[in-house]
Amino acid sequence: MAFSIEDSQIPRGNVFLNGNRPTGDSFYAYMHTGAIQIESVEGEDMIAARFMDIDDLQLVEEDVPKPGPGEVLIKVKAAGICGTDAHILKGESASTPPVILGHEYAGEVVELGEGVTGLHQGDRISVDPNMFCHTCYYCHSGKEHLCLNLTALGVDIDGGFAEYAVVPEVQAHLLPPSVDFTAGAFIEPVACCIRGLQQAHIQPGDEVAILGGGPIGLILLQLAVAAGGRVTVSEPVQSKWSLAKALGAGRTVLPEELPDDAFDIVIEAAGIKATVEQSVQVARRGASIVWFGVSPQGLQAAIEPHEVFRKELHISGSFINPHTHARAVKLVGTGAVRVEPLVSHRFPLTEIDEALRVHASGHANKVMIIPE
Ligand SMILES: [Zn+2]
Ligand SMILES: [Zn+2]
Repeated sequence: MAFSIEDSQIPRGNVFLNGNRPTGDSFYAYMHTGAIQIESVEGEDMIAARFMDIDDLQLVEEDVPKPGPGEVLIKVKAAGICGTDAHILKGESASTPPVILGHEYAGEVVELGEGVTGLHQGDRISVDPNMFCHTCYYCHSGKEHLCLNLTALGVDIDGGFAEYAVVPEVQAHLLPPSVDFTAGAFIEPVACCIRGLQQAHIQPGDEVAILGGGPIGLILLQLAVAAGGRVTVSEPVQSKWSLAKALGAGRTVLPEELPDDAFDIVIEAAGIKATVEQSVQVARRGASIVWFGVSPQGLQAAIEPHEVFRKELHISGSFINPHTHARAVKLVGTGAVRVEPLVSHRFPLTEIDEALRVHASGHANKVMIIPE
């Protein structure tokens, strides 16, 4: 996705980053020549990255939102770029534009809406972005995360790629002093990975293969090691191997080096056709497979059902973070899951186009937006 702006299409006070437009003058040129003045005034205006349509992310200046009843306003301190953001931008994952993206974020409470009693100004929080209707079949069956009316901050409702964000009090989790804001922005992906681990049912001593050594793979790695697994990480980018080893991988291999029929547990953490197909090949008899990586909508993979029969495989999905956000706060807070080493790049919000490009390169680990 190429981002560019054109002089004629810049309305007063707005900056456009638009993948549909031809490249030309860069956003930075405008910033540096002073063609556009961007200033954030607390309580008045803020910068936000608003997803308008496929390949159309606009960096806009707009009013700081007001927290309604039961809501708080936070100053966003860190927001992680996720594969889901890239999928949304390409039209490969559902969302409700126009919306400020960013669903992995943490910040400081600066204003309380009416009736908020559990949070105070200055509190440091991470955000659980997933919101349920509490009335549908799944909500009434204790499976809220499968809610028919699921909405998410940063997907359907304005999220964290902004200087300020409104967060319902019930979606906020206090951060202990040991968790800084950058680590706080990791709580959501760690919470999702805990769900993935629950689906894997690792027993101590199990041979575990994790297919994909990106930030998600490396969080799953640490959880799998904590659960007693002996973990092999398969990752084609060899520069990522040393970090995987430092975080507990017993072995790191190229995908083509993974042995077939060898693993008790296989966790697919790339969301691509090749790794989904390979997950069945490398699973041993009786193995559990978790397809954790978010593949684009419409992706088809070739699985031989006879292999699933012959090996009596258990194949599971893993969807968001049911009741795992508080566990994630604890695991990050105690250092049982280390997330700081996963951050490879930090960008200010005004450079989110470059941040997305770096994320898409496949050579970065976690790319963080630090609004300032
Ligand atoms: Zn995410
Ligand atoms: Zn529901």
